[in-house]
Amino acid sequence: MLSRSLRRTLVPAILLIAVVFLVLSTRPRIYSFQGQVMGTSYNVSYVSSLFSHPLPEVSAVVHAALADVDQRMSTYKPDSELMRFNRAPVGQPVKVSADIVELVRQAQIISEMSGGAYDITVGPLVNLWGFGPQEKPGNGNAEQLVNAPEFVQWLDSQFPGHIPDPAAIDQARAQVGYQSLGTNQGDSTLTRGKELFVDLSSIAKGYGVDQAADALRGLGIDDFMVEVGGEVMVRGAKPNGNPWRLAVIGPEMGKSGVSALVEPVDKALATSGDYLNFFEVDGKRYSHTINPRSGWPEAKRIAEVAVIADTTAQADALATMFMVLGDEEGLKLANRLGIAARFAYYTNDGFATVTSEAFKPYLVPQG
Ligand code: FAD
Repeated sequence: MLSRSLRRTLVPAILLIAVVFLVLSTRPRIYSFQGQVMGTSYNVSYVSSLFSHPLPEVSAVVHAALADVDQRMSTYKPDSELMRFNRAPVGQPVKVSADIVELVRQAQIISEMSGGAYDITVGPLVNLWGFGPQEKPGNGNAEQLVNAPEFVQWLDSQFPGHIPDPAAIDQARAQVGYQSLGTNQGDSTLTRGKELFVDLSSIAKGYGVDQAADALRGLGIDDFMVEVGGEVMVRGAKPNGNPWRLAVIGPEMGKSGVSALVEPVDKALATSGDYLNFFEVDGKRYSHTINPRSGWPEAKRIAEVAVIADTTAQADALATMFMVLGDEEGLKLANRLGIAARFAYYTNDGFATVTSEAFKPYLVPQG
């Protein structure tokens, strides 16, 4: 039996600990988790109190949403829904998930907008130039390429990039053309109007972010940041009420540094660059952004594009589109259509940036 004096000391102490624990457990704070998917990494931060949304449950739901997109829309998985479609007979309508048909239609709208500079049927050229799902490990894993220069050297020593012969380029180019990809939303089918290979790498990673964001909102979480391989969606605010602040990394001749800070409230940010996935031959750089019209990797002076849009899928595809159009043609289109885009391009002594009108309100002044 505890003595009266001990009780007088312990009880308030226990009550105080209980109150402190209660306050801490109910006070919202940021919880974070990471993982791997689609050949790259993902990071999620969400605002909650201790017991409302236990981290193991949240991370399992988000990973399942991302893994579902990976499994169905990957060109790196021979048994994915997309790859089954890419092997289907020409002219035969193939039933696919409704969201794949919807994503293809969104991509075709961006193809129309860009006069074919953006084209998800570019797969044969991507594969021919060595940027597709062949044996190259780490391909597309931007973090590995950017953060470990020796990894790039090793990669290029193992898989030296090569310039295909012109006949092979012409043959692959003949298999490109978004106009030959039939969509039917009514019966949720796609049809290959000719021998073609659909590559959703430029839009489905962004779509995965949107799916993960929907999964978080389905759990009742409204304040979060989801990032997959550089594509980010932010919703709500941090516990102190401030907006999520994102860094736009910039190309500084092969390494990356922060070149701008933005606060895109309840929007998505995607970036594409020529310094994340490329090979060099005779000092010339060939990146994974292919111009469907020429059949060659785009070689304009452009180094990186950052796009802010309502969905991550849109931002992802638009960033790739602008990498093909280049900063001059891209800036004109962005300003004409009110798209928030920021272009970084190489100059003789480094790089310079230009920003569309719609992007400017998101920039955080850097003092
Ligand atoms: P972005 O600019 O967003 O996309 C560039 C990609 O778009 C190119 O790699 C090419 O595929 C395509 N492209 C090039 N030119 C054009 C054009 N003119 N129009 C349209 N598209 C074009 N990588 C792995 O190494 N291993 C994996 O297991 C793997 N699985 C994946 C699964 C899925 C579902 C997706 C979407 C991608 C996967 N990737 C994988 C690819 C990797 O994530 C890509 O490098 C990444 O999606 C490209 O994004 P990015 O931001 O680097 O470049």
